[in-house]
Amino acid sequence: MLTEILDNKKVVEASRYIGQAKRIVILTHMAPDGDAMGSSLAMYHYLRQNGKEAHVIVPTAFPDFLRWMPGAAEIIIYEKMAENALEKMDAADLIVCTDFNEPKRIGVLGDKLLALKKEKTSLRVIMIDHHLSPSDIADVVLSYPQTPSASELVYRLLTQLGEIGIDSATCIYTGMMTDTGNFSFNSNYCDMYQIVHDLVKMGVDKDAVYDQVMNSHTADRMRLVGYCLYQKMRIFPQEHTALIYLNRKELYRFNFRSGDAEGLVNIPMQIKDIYYSCFMREDKVNASEEMLAGGSKTKIKISMRSKGDRPVNTFCHDVFGGGGHKNASGGEYYGPLENAVQLFLDNYKKYNT
Ligand code: 5GP
Ligand code: MN
Repeated sequence: MLTEILDNKKVVEASRYIGQAKRIVILTHMAPDGDAMGSSLAMYHYLRQNGKEAHVIVPTAFPDFLRWMPGAAEIIIYEKMAENALEKMDAADLIVCTDFNEPKRIGVLGDKLLALKKEKTSLRVIMIDHHLSPSDIADVVLSYPQTPSASELVYRLLTQLGEIGIDSATCIYTGMMTDTGNFSFNSNYCDMYQIVHDLVKMGVDKDAVYDQVMNSHTADRMRLVGYCLYQKMRIFPQEHTALIYLNRKELYRFNFRSGDAEGLVNIPMQIKDIYYSCFMREDKVNASEEMLAGGSKTKIKISMRSKGDRPVNTFCHDVFGGGGHKNASGGEYYGPLENAVQLFLDNYKKYNT
């Protein structure tokens, strides 16, 4: 038996909204990761299985290593199919937000969501998330920051509502696996293994999920990792900190594709006595975030990791307007890479002593 964590009144309310809805849109965050894809696609399969019209809409493309996920091919990517995405949102009577806590995390789709909420009093919004400080955009907020993945919350919700099929189960497992670094952090938690047990019993091929997610890199990506570690990693031993940053030219040299930087921030944490790691890369400003960029053509994507009781979410929040979990956070900086690096150097000592 699992420890109950979802508020039952909210589950009943969510169940009612789902029951009443005909057209449902599921939204998840920019640059979707395994948990974003897992939680949204698990909802998608469940809703379709129960006769609903459902669509997953993401602001920006998902990485190649998640392309195999059941339902991934039907996802509507706003930056490629803006009109279709907005049409589906206009037509929706229920919007389910998974794995993000604030409209900013979905770029212009966040503005669209806020506008729709104002215009259309019949529209219902359900949020299923595990980040701190959920914003006030939903009618039902299932927010549990202690839970390691949003996919686990979707599992808990769906198994209370009815039966889940193998596609939902596979997506949930993927999110649980990726958001815990293959069960290597945030994972001293018995319920997690009970759920994994149940999912495997339902037929999830966990070895195949691992293989598809983890062993699907290109040779370019492996060489990029080598380059980062050999030439780019800066170590600040006094502060137990590692920093890697890459500009667009370097990324181009290794034929960088979305997802190639995934997990890079974790590697310096393998060094003894390194407790903080920061990875930055220069990116283009995409169509869904021009408003945020304030004229800058470049965006720096920042990822941070730490060990134990050393929060990085406060650093990401204060310095880079981002946030996340205690040991895994991120943020964005609109402007030149050098400025973002300087901001890091000016501030990191303050936050990690
Ligand atoms: P990653 O480093 O894998 O991109 O992100 C790690 C975690 O940091 C994510 O699960 C998410 O919670 C958080 N995160 C990453 N980027 C941002 C950001 O730009 N803003 C906020 N608020 N959180 C972020
Ligand atoms: Mn997540």
